[in-house]
Amino acid sequence: MAMDGLRTLVLDAAFRPMHAIRWQRAMVLDLLDRVDVLEYYDHVVRTAQDAFPLPAVIRHRGYVKRGPRSIALTRRNVLARDGNRCQYCGGGFPAGDLTLDHVQPRSRGGASTWENLVTACAPCNRAKGDRTPNEAKMPLLAEPTKPSVIAMGRTGLFRGDLPSEWELYLPDMPALAG
Ligand SMILES: [Zn+2]
Repeated sequence: MAMDGLRTLVLDAAFRPMHAIRWQRAMVLDLLDRVDVLEYYDHVVRTAQDAFPLPAVIRHRGYVKRGPRSIALTRRNVLARDGNRCQYCGGGFPAGDLTLDHVQPRSRGGASTWENLVTACAPCNRAKGDRTPNEAKMPLLAEPTKPSVIAMGRTGLFRGDLPSEWELYLPDMPALAG
């Protein structure tokens, strides 16, 4: 991953993941002595005299998170969760060629929720019609779930795969990696 795109995972004082920030901001928090750095990336920033490793995971000393943050259920965020990939045929498409499909059809009481909405290309959406994946014999690539705010970032977009340096601190991440 290019250095510019690297983000730093921020944990609260109780080691609970809160969000991810730009590494530049994480270095400032470290310099201000507000955080402990738990993991570093292999990348370093060089000055004339020194080389500073980039923080991969930091922990706030005094801050404990209140409630869980959540990601808005929008078309763009569902597409981002699914990696712009049709969840029936597995094809990757530009956003403009993708639709949202209700797994359990709306006409049959299917709700608009993270667990019932998936990305589908137009041909698959048409082929599935008003049927469930079982009836249409079109199995889903993955069970749709609500993504975490950490996986999505502040803009609501995935920034590529999650860094391996974060794994120990994100016990629920494997389900979100797709
Ligand atoms: Zn498709």
